[in-house]
Amino acid sequence: MGRAMNLKNLRNEVLVQNTKNLIKEENRILAKVLAHFLEIEERKLYLELGYGSLFLFAVKELGYSEASAQRRIDAMRFLKKTPEARPMVEKGNLNLSNLSLLERVSREAQATHAQNVAALNLLHEEPISALEAETKLRGYFKLETKKRVVRIEMDEETYQLWLETKAKLGEAKDSAALKKLCESQVEKPQKKVRQNPKTRVAGVVLRRELLKEAEHRCEYVNPINGQRCENQHFLQCDHKIPYFLGGKTVQQNMRVLCRQHNQLVYQDLKGENVF
Ligand SMILES: [Zn+2]
Repeated sequence: MGRAMNLKNLRNEVLVQNTKNLIKEENRILAKVLAHFLEIEERKLYLELGYGSLFLFAVKELGYSEASAQRRIDAMRFLKKTPEARPMVEKGNLNLSNLSLLERVSREAQATHAQNVAALNLLHEEPISALEAETKLRGYFKLETKKRVVRIEMDEETYQLWLETKAKLGEAKDSAALKKLCESQVEKPQKKVRQNPKTRVAGVVLRRELLKEAEHRCEYVNPINGQRCENQHFLQCDHKIPYFLGGKTVQQNMRVLCRQHNQLVYQDLKGENVF
């Protein structure tokens, strides 16, 4: 209160000059805080203190809000790979939001060090708005600009569960954590296997894909009791519709059988007089 009263007595130009001095001080402190973040990360100190990530450490131990913590961690990561940015931060030519923006965009573009330095120079020439900066950077790195914004309402219990889930997944960002979680729930579309469907023998890539799909076990299932053969030896790639009957060498028509079951299936076909 007393301080606010003192400010009331300051002349305009002094008030402005003092504010500028404070901001200079603020920039120097920011650079120092980021250097400390970096050292904590390099020592993995947060693990020792019982946090799964630097992000959780920054929120729970240091008391930052989630967004503030994330911005500082992003900024630190960019400084780590682009030390050229440090004097700019100290001098106040590069603010925290642009620094964290640089990191997000550079990560998305998988930028090289030279590109990061170039991107840095794009931003520190003149002060621009956050949106202008993002547009400029995305343009430089030739990145798509479209991103979906989803607002989700949840109760406190769910929110706490989500925080725990993120920690367990090792992702601080909601989008990255959600992606990991979804990928664990949804089967990925099958990789396109380059294989001539008219060739009889499955190629290396198709064979690898089939074995992976079969978890390296024979896929024969007894039609009467539903028992699956678990044999892991002498596995062969077999055509469901036999090759000589026009069955193609494509993933959907292939299965993995052990040698014995391959022979059994062959015998059954012989019994049905398909030859
Ligand atoms: Zn078998």
